[in-house]
Amino acid sequence: MAQTIFDKIIAREISARIVYEDDDVLAFYDVAPKAPTHILVIPKKPIENLLATTEHDTVLLGKLLAASVHVARAEGLASDGFRVVINTGKNGGQSVDHLHLHILGGRQMAWPPG
Ligand code: 5GP
Repeated sequence: MAQTIFDKIIAREISARIVYEDDDVLAFYDVAPKAPTHILVIPKKPIENLLATTEHDTVLLGKLLAASVHVARAEGLASDGFRVVINTGKNGGQSVDHLHLHILGGRQMAWPPG
């Protein structure tokens, strides 16, 4: 898989405002926020997107969701709620080919999304 900007963030080759890290997961603020709080939660393992996951990634997918809950609470989003988004492929609006969960909060979200 080709290197992405997120591999460079994992390797600390470019900086990011990291808010959570464990052996498998990294979470950091989005550089171009779409909400007052916008954090990305990614696996350290390079996986292109949801479609590239297999049954071997089931535990990792759970860890990504659990980390998202932890981060949302830690960043003060629990009381008013938040949204978790996984853009996948062209129609999903994915621009970085490394699986990532967007945590968006701090304002009322619209539905349906654009
Ligand atoms: P996607 O469009 O693939 O769902 O989301 C990719 C996200 O990565 C975008 O929200 C974009 O702002 C964010 N992003 C792209 N490059 C960087 C970067 O170098 N640093 C950080 N922190 N976020 C980035």
